Amino acid sequence: MKSKSLIPNKRPDENSNKRPDEKLIDRTKGFLDKEEGLRLYQITLEVSSLGPCLEIGSYCGKSTLYLGAACRENNSTLFAVDHHSGSEEQQPGEGYFDPETYDIRQGRMDTYPLFRKALIDGGLEDTVVPILAKSEVAARHWATPLSLVFIDGGHTFKAAYTDYNSWVGHIAPGGYLLIHDIFKNSEEGGQAPHYIYKLAAASGLFQVLPMTKTLGVLKRRPCGEFPDDLPVI
Ligand code: SAH
Ligand code: MG
Repeated sequence: MKSKSLIPNKRPDENSNKRPDEKLIDRTKGFLDKEEGLRLYQITLEVSSLGPCLEIGSYCGKSTLYLGAACRENNSTLFAVDHHSGSEEQQPGEGYFDPETYDIRQGRMDTYPLFRKALIDGGLEDTVVPILAKSEVAARHWATPLSLVFIDGGHTFKAAYTDYNSWVGHIAPGGYLLIHDIFKNSEEGGQAPHYIYKLAAASGLFQVLPMTKTLGVLKRRPCGEFPDDLPVI
């Protein structure tokens, strides 16, 4: 008699669910508003055939599911950088600590298992390349032009500046820089993402597009395009 197969009939990535999977996104832990997620998805869909995309700060995969779904539609790739040991405010005893992210064997936070599960359930294993490293370590020898960089990592000024400095030079002309958690006044939230947003805007390299909630959107000017206020002599 033939024994019953333990292998499921269908792998999750054969579901060919093209759009972002809203139900999966709703049950994935994270810190991203739905409108912000849909903006990530739309911009990634627009630009990711130019080259691979990269996010800094995946946590349990909420933003990755939006960015990854759009990359999959364009046969592009998303590099997802996170050391997976959490930001300052996510540590035990801090305001955003989630006990389910704590690994007793390591004696510290580890969001990688939950992140990996989201990639499998979202059918993104052939699209997303997880990079289990600090942003600055991943950037050290990076040499590939990127069509999109999404910064959503640590919120200290040093962390945000490091992310900006490490990755901004890799954004291809015509590509996007997206920055999460921008609060224009300090009563609403920390100012580090806002600080790097202002640096990028002042660099003259980007067109500043309308924000979606706390998501800042900057487009690297294509070669041969000029800012509206460029002096005419
Ligand atoms: N994008 C996620 C939320 C990210 S929370 C969502 O949609 O829900 C911030 C993440 O940044 C955490 O997972 C933390 O581990 C990661 N992080 C913080 N500092 C980092 C650094 N220097 N390098 C890599 N990842 C970092
Ligand atoms: Mg964020």
